Amino acid sequence: MWVNGRTVTASGDGRGDVHNPATGAVIRRVGFASSDDVDRAVAAASAAFPSWRATTPLNRARVIERFRQLLVENREVLARVISEEHGKTVADAVGSVQRGLEVAEFAAGAPHLLQGDLSEAVGADVDCHSILQPLGVCVGVTPFNFPAMVPLWMFPVSIVCGNTFVLKPSEKVPSAAVRMAELLAEAGLPDGVFNVVHGDGETVDALIAHRETRAVSFVGSTPVARRIYATAAAHGKRVQALGGAKNHAVVLPDADLDAAADALTGAAFGSAGQRCMAVSAVVAVGPNGDRVVEKLRERAAALKVGPGDGAEVDMGPVITAGQRDRLRAYIDAGEAEGARLALDGRGLDVRGHRGGFFVGPTIFDHVRPDMTIYRDEMFGPVLVVLRAESLEEAIAIVNDNPYGNGTALFTRSGGAARRFENAVEVGMVGINVPIPVPMAFFSFGGWKSSLFGDLAVHGREGIYFYTRRKVVTSRWMETDAVPGPGLDMPTM
Ligand code: NAD
Repeated sequence: MWVNGRTVTASGDGRGDVHNPATGAVIRRVGFASSDDVDRAVAAASAAFPSWRATTPLNRARVIERFRQLLVENREVLARVISEEHGKTVADAVGSVQRGLEVAEFAAGAPHLLQGDLSEAVGADVDCHSILQPLGVCVGVTPFNFPAMVPLWMFPVSIVCGNTFVLKPSEKVPSAAVRMAELLAEAGLPDGVFNVVHGDGETVDALIAHRETRAVSFVGSTPVARRIYATAAAHGKRVQALGGAKNHAVVLPDADLDAAADALTGAAFGSAGQRCMAVSAVVAVGPNGDRVVEKLRERAAALKVGPGDGAEVDMGPVITAGQRDRLRAYIDAGEAEGARLALDGRGLDVRGHRGGFFVGPTIFDHVRPDMTIYRDEMFGPVLVVLRAESLEEAIAIVNDNPYGNGTALFTRSGGAARRFENAVEVGMVGINVPIPVPMAFFSFGGWKSSLFGDLAVHGREGIYFYTRRKVVTSRWMETDAVPGPGLDMPTM
């Protein structure tokens, strides 16, 4: 763990095995925080708060800017750690660090972002202004699939606003968080402003219940997100809880089918489908459905599956043996429920990696919304294709789904794109863009069961989440005239 500017060993009883998913080997063990460890981390963050809050926004931003530079210099090192513990390819991991450090780049604009508003002369001798102030100790809880990027969605923004932070990364991929803590220290961040504790749900519960924590940012699966939202609210904590997804791509008959199939192959099978914005369902509209499926099948079948650091590997393993077995069981269920298996990844054998957690790219066609493979977030390289007769039917399918993270439309029609953008009940929409992850200066967040809370992460909403607004109304009179007592409601 990283507490008060140094690495410390957890004193809890629990511990987790960290695997290399490409070999199945346990490569390190992570100790879980005891409740005393959680207390120590929160106490360090609490003690660091007054002076960090008093540090000028410009000086806070300069630390974040130096950290951004260190992330650039250490991008490859971080990517290798991520690839080793998560399984994704090194090139994909480099991309994820890049998207994360863009949030630090955004946060380095803090002096501008933290400006309030002022209205002069709203009444006789009366001005009114607003100020944004930090909350105190903020907590981040993050999933396994983006060991650097998702924490980076949170802490640069939180810290630059003047808060201090305790991060609880996924116990499956604990190393990147501690490496980033070291880089923050190297960038000049004072001790205690950023802390990392490891653990599981129990550790998270202790952080949420702690009387000195003020806000919780969570990213993970929907059942846990829903629970975190309720628990944090019950403790009076500000909370944003981002959950799981089932992202649909709608392919209209007029789309460039080759371009769409290329884009969808990357979006469905990149990172072995373990992205919250992965396309996991395609809705093929009209008479081109068979051609869409065939083009996807050809491309997916040609992908090279292997270890994330292997030469020319397109797709790595999934995170655990349990997840591999779960995906195989879903493929069995899809077949049993009558979907047509267009490509079967169950029997994949990666030479030299028998113990690895591999599932090959898998495609189901003629999937119905009542099937398990459609209803559940499988979170792996399994793509389901549904058929629809019209754009309206496709929109209805997307809107009936409980998740609302991302969606994409492939078309050459501006009118269809406009209709889709307007009617679809999803937080992030792509038009001929398969994974519409907003840039750091916009905010990232879905709708419905993909986000519990009002504010998304980073961008303007991130600044609002990590600050409280105060509105000051002041009267300064130029004369000594005494206005006299007034018992009526003042109107200005
Ligand atoms: P997860 O929900 O199992 O775990 C996420 C975090 O919560 C981890 O740090 C974990 O230790 C902790 N946790 C687990 N059980 C808990 C409990 N009962 N109480 C409190 N904390 C608990 O998710 P995961 O498997 O690590 O990640 C994959 C999931 O995350 C997928 O559902 C994916 O869609 C989702 N995800 C969503 C987004 C998004 O932006 N919406 C981004 C990335 C991942």
